[in-house]
Amino acid sequence: MARTFFVGGNFKMNPGSREQKQALVKLLNEAQLDPNTEVVIAPPSLYLLPLKETIRKEIQVSAQNCYFKESGAFTGEISPTQLADAGIPYVILGHSERRTLFHETSAVVAQKTVAALAAGLRVVLCVGETLKERETGETDKVVQEQLEAVVKQIKESDWSKIVIAYEPVWAIGTGKVATSAQAQETQAAVRAYLTKAVSQGVADATRIIYGGSVTAANCKELATQPDVDGFLVGGASLKPEFVDIVNAKN
Ligand code: PGA
Repeated sequence: MARTFFVGGNFKMNPGSREQKQALVKLLNEAQLDPNTEVVIAPPSLYLLPLKETIRKEIQVSAQNCYFKESGAFTGEISPTQLADAGIPYVILGHSERRTLFHETSAVVAQKTVAALAAGLRVVLCVGETLKERETGETDKVVQEQLEAVVKQIKESDWSKIVIAYEPVWAIGTGKVATSAQAQETQAAVRAYLTKAVSQGVADATRIIYGGSVTAANCKELATQPDVDGFLVGGASLKPEFVDIVNAKN
């Protein structure tokens, strides 16, 4: 089954200034982008609405996180309903920085996913193992447990709204990219798990993207792998090379 290639730019808590943000928008608005790639950028929430107004219409915007309640006394949080109401189509959930620095368990990530889907958002659901877990041969087990928390909570039809981002924690922001064989092996295992845990149809249709030190230099080889359906890009999404990553299939 042909799956539309997906490239997400996770700006994290960047760029540091409005000028840098404007330069990034200009770059993306003027670049030649592969029309067959779905491109989504995730700026800090403060910039979601202004970016949505100024970025070319082919590029969608995504939040980097949301809460699982609709509204209420949750200081500092944004609800999925508020994102949907503001016309934001996507949210990234379960990023390893959220899991580690902000102590989000897989159960919380699943609650957030359920709430985001109920609000009508699409979800980039991040999973991935630590270096220790890889070295002890637990990669597939860890990734499947992270996915299982969500699998148990959502309907088969919800999967059309989810992109799975496989992001080994040891590769995020480290410059140590997974080899294309490592990415392919784990992502094929994710697809096999979806076949077993959900359905063949969902396994065939769901985009499984790779994240962790993706650059212009390594994206083309990774993109040749049959189970690599795109990328979630951190550091390089703030640089001109993001355009090359969007165009990795060319
Ligand atoms: P990186 O981050 O590309 O800077 O490694 C990826 C991510 O955290 O999504």
